[in-house]
Amino acid sequence: MPQPGSGVIVVDHPLVQHKLSLMRNRNTSTAEFRRLLREISLLLAYEATRDLPLEATEIDTPLERASFPRLAGKKLCLVSILRAGNGILDGMLDLLPSARVGHIGIYREPKTLQAVEYYLKLPDDLAERDVVLVDPMLATGNSAVAAISRLAELRARTIRFVCLVAAPEGVANLHGVFPEVTVVAAALDRCLDAHGYILPGLGDAGDRLYGTK
Ligand code: URA
Repeated sequence: MPQPGSGVIVVDHPLVQHKLSLMRNRNTSTAEFRRLLREISLLLAYEATRDLPLEATEIDTPLERASFPRLAGKKLCLVSILRAGNGILDGMLDLLPSARVGHIGIYREPKTLQAVEYYLKLPDDLAERDVVLVDPMLATGNSAVAAISRLAELRARTIRFVCLVAAPEGVANLHGVFPEVTVVAAALDRCLDAHGYILPGLGDAGDRLYGTK
């Protein structure tokens, strides 16, 4: 399969933009935030899989046998960067129920903002699968780069990165190391603050998703 075209795809569909605006509101409840993330993620999955290859297959309709398109090759693998990535995973699995799923646990060291991996569980046939890596916030890009490095080391066939909100700094970092990885986002925001949070952003996606603050 060809590599996905590199670059950033901002999904400007009105439903995605409306739902994201609701999520940004500090008064949006945990339950509502979780539901909106699930809904947006399904729509982002639709865009992120737009260029998947098809192959012709013979199907018997009630009237005749004919050739129709089907997705080619092995099932996709969705990889969630813990913990906030799991919020995107749920919506994507609504659309891609047969996808394989991997998890990478990475936390940001608060002082240096460097990525530290603490957990890894992936299908063992990654070299035969196209991967969609998910994390709601592409901030410094350090976690994304660490996760993509791991996937590249395991020879994932192709890698797409899907997030809700990206910062220009994160995109530049990611594409500086992996120019071939397409980023799909619902928004490209202004910049990072001194603590590595995205402005205007939506705050800490994990805390808002799980109500931990
Ligand atoms: N992680 C988040 O959850 N939010 C940000 O703004 C940046 C990183």
